[in-house]
Amino acid sequence: MNAPETKIRKITIVGGGTAGWMTAALLSQLFNDGGFDIKLIESDEIGTIGVGEATIPAIRNYHALAGLDQVAMIRATQATFKLGIEFVDWRALGHSYIHGFGKIGQDLLWLHPHQFWLKYAARGQTKHFDHYALNCLAARQNRFCLPDPRNPGSPLADLDYAYHFDASLFARFLRAHAEQRGVTRIEGRIVSAELRPEDGHVDHVLLSDGRRVDGELFIDCSGMRALLLGQTLGVGYEEWSHWLPCDRALAVPCESVVPLTPYTRSTARAAGWQWRIPLQHRIGNGHVYSSAHISDDEAADVLLANLDGRALADPRPVRFTPGRRDKSWERNVVAIGLSSGFLEPLESTSIHLIQTAILRLVALFPGAGINAADVAEYNRQTSFEFEDVRDFIIAHYKVTEREDTPFWAYVRNMDIPDSLSARLELFRTSARFFGQQKAELFREESWVQVLLGQGLQAQHDPMVDLIPDEQALGFLRDIEEVIADVAQAMPDHAAFIAKHCRAPATPLN
Ligand code: FAD
Repeated sequence: MNAPETKIRKITIVGGGTAGWMTAALLSQLFNDGGFDIKLIESDEIGTIGVGEATIPAIRNYHALAGLDQVAMIRATQATFKLGIEFVDWRALGHSYIHGFGKIGQDLLWLHPHQFWLKYAARGQTKHFDHYALNCLAARQNRFCLPDPRNPGSPLADLDYAYHFDASLFARFLRAHAEQRGVTRIEGRIVSAELRPEDGHVDHVLLSDGRRVDGELFIDCSGMRALLLGQTLGVGYEEWSHWLPCDRALAVPCESVVPLTPYTRSTARAAGWQWRIPLQHRIGNGHVYSSAHISDDEAADVLLANLDGRALADPRPVRFTPGRRDKSWERNVVAIGLSSGFLEPLESTSIHLIQTAILRLVALFPGAGINAADVAEYNRQTSFEFEDVRDFIIAHYKVTEREDTPFWAYVRNMDIPDSLSARLELFRTSARFFGQQKAELFREESWVQVLLGQGLQAQHDPMVDLIPDEQALGFLRDIEEVIADVAQAMPDHAAFIAKHCRAPATPLN
C-alpha cells in the first residue's frame, strides 16, 4: 500500500468502451480543477464489445452528475425511451408480462396492491397485472411522456424511465465531453505492464510502438480481458455458470419497424433468450444462449428467423463467463466494467454496475494515498452488488413453468443460492418482500412483477382478508381506472420523440 501522504493525481484509464469513457467523463467533471491528470488509452485495432444498449433509470443520475444534457444525449446516440422490459414465453409459451420501472398502483394502509391482486386474481376478478402499473400499461400502448412531479397524487408523478441507445455512439458522445474537460486520449495497443519492485503496484504500461504511459492509479476498463487486474495482477474469477448456463451471444441489428416500442423485449428461446432493443435508426437484437444446449449455427438460425426487420449485418458472436473477479480493487488497479465481472444482460444491469463502481471509487477515492480499509470496503460493496443482481437474474430462470426443453428443465430444477431460496420462500407463503440492504438495486416493485410474472404460486398476505371484498375490489378497480385514463392521455412514443428529441438520420459526429 502507498504511504498515506502519497497524493494520487495521475489517473490512467485502460480501455475506451462504455466503461472507460463513462469513467473518464464523470471523473473529469467531478475532479475538474483539482490538478488531476487523466489519460485514457484505447485501441481502435482491438475495438470495443459493441453491445450494451439498454439501461435502467438510475442512468439519469449519471447524466446529471456528469453534466450531460438529456436531449443532446438522445439525439447524439439515436436513443429511445424505455419504460421496462417485456418478458415473452418466460413463464410458459404464449405468456407475457412486463417488468416496468416505477410504482405499482398505490397502497391501502400498509398493504401493497399486489396482495389484493393475488387474492382476487385467483377468483378471476382482476385484469392482467400490467393494468395496475402505469409504466406497464403505457408500454403496452406504446405511449411515453416525461414524469410530472407537480401532481404527486397522479401516477404520472411516479413514471420512471431509462433509455435504449447505440453503444458506440454513446461512447463517442462521452469521449467528446471528457476530452473537452481535459482528458488526454492515447491511441495504442498495450502489450505489457511493468510493476514497481517495492510494492508490486503497476508503474506503467507499454504500448506496441514502444511508448510508455505511467500512472498513480490505473482504472482497468479493458473489457473481459481484464488486462491489468486479471492478466497482470493475477486476481482470480469466481464463475457462476451452474446457475447461469448461458455463455454465448450473437448480436445483429435490423431495420426499424412501427410502432416504436418504449420497452426492451426479452423472448425466451429453447436454450436461452433473445433481446430486442428499438433505437431511432435501427433495432438491436441478440440471442443469448447456452452452448451446452444449442450449437452456434442453430442459435444464429433462431436469431435470424425472429427479426422484425431486414438484418443489417451478419450476427456477431460474443463469448462470456458469468461471474465476477474475486476483488475489483487490488493494489493501485481498480477494474470497472466487464473487467470486473459479467452478468448476462437480462435486466440491463452492466452499465448500471459501471456507474455504481465509478461512484464508489469517487466516494472512496484515495486522494491522499491508497489504504487497505478503503480497498476492503470497495471490494465488499462490489461483491454484494454483483451477488444481489445475480440472484435477481437467476430468479427469472428458476421460477418458471417451462420444462419443455433440456435447458428449461435444467434451470427449473437447479439448486439456487441460499440468499435467493429464502427470498422465494417468504414470497411464496405470504407474497411479502423485504429489502435486506440499502445497496440492493432491485426493490419490491421489481421482485413482485418478476415473481408474479414468472408464475410463482404465492399466497396473499392473510391480513388482506381483514378488508371486506367490496372495498378491496373497489380499491383495485380505482387503480385500474386511474391508470387507464392517464395512459390514454399520454402521447405516442414515436410522436413524443419526433416532437422533442429526434436524432438526425445520419448519426451526429
Ligand atoms: P469493452 O467494450 O470491451 O471495452 C474494452 C476497451 O479496452 C476497448 O476500448 C478496447 O480497445 C480496450 N482494450 C482492450 N485491450 C487493450 C489493449 N491491449 N490495449 C489497448 N486497449 C485495449 N449492458 C447493459 O447495461 N445493457 C445491455 O443491454 C447490455 N447488453 C449486453 C449484451 C451482451 C451480449 C454483452 C456481452 C454485454 C452486454 N452488456 C449490456 C454489457 C455492456 O456491453 C458492457 O458492460 C459495456 O459495454 C462495457 O464494456 P467495457 O467498456 O467494460 O468493455
